[in-house]
Amino acid sequence: SYRKGGYHAVRVGDPFNSGRYIAQRKLGWGEFSTVWLAYDTQSSKYVALKIQKSAAQFAQAALHEIEVLSIITNGDPSNSNCVVQLIDHFKHAGPNGQHHCMVLEFLGDSLLRLIRYNRYKGLKLSKVKEICKCILTGLDYLHRELGIIHTDLKPENILLVSTIDPAKDPIRSGLKPIIERPECNLNGGSTMSIIEKKLKRRARNAVAKISGSKASMGVAVTKSGRCLDGIDVRCKVVDFGNACWADKRFAEEIQTRQYRAPEVILRSGYSFTVDMWSFACTAFELATGDMMFAPKEGQGFGEDEDHLALMMELLGKMPRKIAIGGARSKDFFDRHGDLKRIRRLKFWPLDRMLVDRYSFSETDAKEFAEFLCPLLDFTPAKRPTAEQCLQHSWLNMRDSIHKESTNDANMESLDAGMNKLQLKVGK
Ligand code: ATP
Ligand code: MG
Ligand code: MG
Repeated sequence: SYRKGGYHAVRVGDPFNSGRYIAQRKLGWGEFSTVWLAYDTQSSKYVALKIQKSAAQFAQAALHEIEVLSIITNGDPSNSNCVVQLIDHFKHAGPNGQHHCMVLEFLGDSLLRLIRYNRYKGLKLSKVKEICKCILTGLDYLHRELGIIHTDLKPENILLVSTIDPAKDPIRSGLKPIIERPECNLNGGSTMSIIEKKLKRRARNAVAKISGSKASMGVAVTKSGRCLDGIDVRCKVVDFGNACWADKRFAEEIQTRQYRAPEVILRSGYSFTVDMWSFACTAFELATGDMMFAPKEGQGFGEDEDHLALMMELLGKMPRKIAIGGARSKDFFDRHGDLKRIRRLKFWPLDRMLVDRYSFSETDAKEFAEFLCPLLDFTPAKRPTAEQCLQHSWLNMRDSIHKESTNDANMESLDAGMNKLQLKVGK
């Protein structure tokens, strides 16, 4: 992908936007871009620099994302709405073409990584609640104030807020900015100079500390690995490349498969409530470590039909009117509202599954299911809004002492996960 129209190759120390930003280390990548940690010499802060692929369709997508991010940022001057902020944007010319670049506030690990570090065992419910409140605050802002539908909400697109500002606290973060690109070996192709290797390693280790380690989990854990109760687990919604407006939609097929709402599969039209469906899937995954729905195609039926079957096994039969009401309904349902190819469903209600498969206590299971099930209503208009959801008693309930004890095991595995991560980051 590092060819004409594709990614821009970046090296540690590369300057951007007339030298204002200096590349430090790669943070991640997606289908459209690579994202680098950069040092902003103007504000003396670290930022995330998203460098888009250069081909026309990627440039157009970047302009759309910049438009959405500008609206989001301008509407939230106090930066309190749990949505990522755009700091700057510009174009960068390179050997592969012109690349649109977005400068975003620097955030920590994604919730997907958090789930992984926790070895897919699920987080304790008090943390799940804190995270849910943040996501809902973000969704309420997008939906009610801006009329924006995210359309791709999932753990990967929600990032933790790092509690340490590496620029203000270089000793704790162990990160000193790299201001200049090493002089030697500028034209050296793939062979890196020793200095460059050293710099890269230093930047990598330092960022492992701020973004990958307990520091960013500092939200959740202290140095000794103990849980900090009462402290906020703050996070923010990111990746607005697919966002649209309720009155200006672009695509019929939206959302990542496992987080896709039934009305999207059936092509019955969609609105804000598709994000509420994805939110419920995300909350379930945080609490259990497993995806709520992981459909697969089978003998004689496709992934979509399996997905609809899984939904009904967990949530009960879809009302006939909803089942047969979409442009693609005939592909899956007969006129009675039964699936055409998957005839026998094994019903396993959510509260039972939480007890039987995930060893939730009866009370926890009942309360969590009561929070989630309305969000997973097959009738989109019946799902609560983010604003209503924020008022739900489950989010504002205190956890019992009994639950705190399961947390120690949780945190131990988080520790072990962290050690692994340090190795992985070193790759
Ligand atoms: P996709 O294919 O998912 O649309 P994309 O090219 O639009 O990808 P993003 O999802 O925005 O890119 O970002 C890619 C990765 O970069 C993220 O998964 C995350 O790891 C990292 N990243 C993005 N934004 C930030 C940020 N503000 N702070 C820290 N890391 C970030
Ligand atoms: Mg993404
Ligand atoms: Mg994207």
